[in-house]
Amino acid sequence: MTCLSFILRILMFVVLWLAVLLGFGGCTNYGLRIKELAPDCYVVYGEGGNSGVLISDTAVLIVDTKMKQGAERLRRWVKRKAPHQRIYIVNTHIHRDHSSGNHLYDDAVIMAGSYGEKFWNALAAREDLPNRWIEDSVLLQWPNEEVVVYNVGQAHTYEDVLVYLRQRKVLFAGDVVLNGYHPFLDEHAGASVAGYQDVLQDMLQRFSIRWVVPGHGKAGSTELISTMQAYFRDMTEAAQNTESEMIARERYQSYSSLPINKAGFDQTISFIRKSETLR
Ligand SMILES: [Zn+2]
Ligand SMILES: [Zn+2]
Repeated sequence: MTCLSFILRILMFVVLWLAVLLGFGGCTNYGLRIKELAPDCYVVYGEGGNSGVLISDTAVLIVDTKMKQGAERLRRWVKRKAPHQRIYIVNTHIHRDHSSGNHLYDDAVIMAGSYGEKFWNALAAREDLPNRWIEDSVLLQWPNEEVVVYNVGQAHTYEDVLVYLRQRKVLFAGDVVLNGYHPFLDEHAGASVAGYQDVLQDMLQRFSIRWVVPGHGKAGSTELISTMQAYFRDMTEAAQNTESEMIARERYQSYSSLPINKAGFDQTISFIRKSETLR
């Protein structure tokens, strides 16, 4: 064998393997980043908000349905994993990055906090309208799991909903908890910093937690909740004096802002200042 044909053979081998790897990855996860947190319980990251998926023989629970291409990819992945199961969807809140895939699931039970139809249609898409409003809390009986769908009231929006898996100790927190992101404080949707603080404290007391899945960023431990509490404490102080503002700006400089809205350090500060003056 000549040196050239040897190199060509090696190259062909590498190209073939790359094609196999890419093809395999592409058709199994459709380009989605997925982590199995507990048996049959997954977090599907990004492309809109993070989603949770819990699969049993008879039913699938989807927490948040993403948006645009991400929503379509999530649907394809769920349908491949669970082609015949009944689908239950929970929207942690009304924002489109968490609810724009609802319409892709025919005959699904779609739950959300009790915003009501008029408010929903004003802020989100009519085609994604839920068919069950959760006013307080609901316990879904699941094979080997108790699923608590819990309306915590006003924090990130007027009607935030958490999903807690009691056996697996997994909490899907929606945008009440973020990891490494500034929150989007949307006054039209009912954002309230005081509400965030109450709900974050309540989460730590109410649930025994192994995994917290934030609305954006990586899943982690309860540390994500205490970090979020510290963020609001620091930002509230920063809104009151220039020195604290400089310290906080430095401390949170690695935080990202969500691309679909105006969230960021300055928005958090001005939101807090505005709500202090209104009080
Ligand atoms: Zn979000
Ligand atoms: Zn949101």
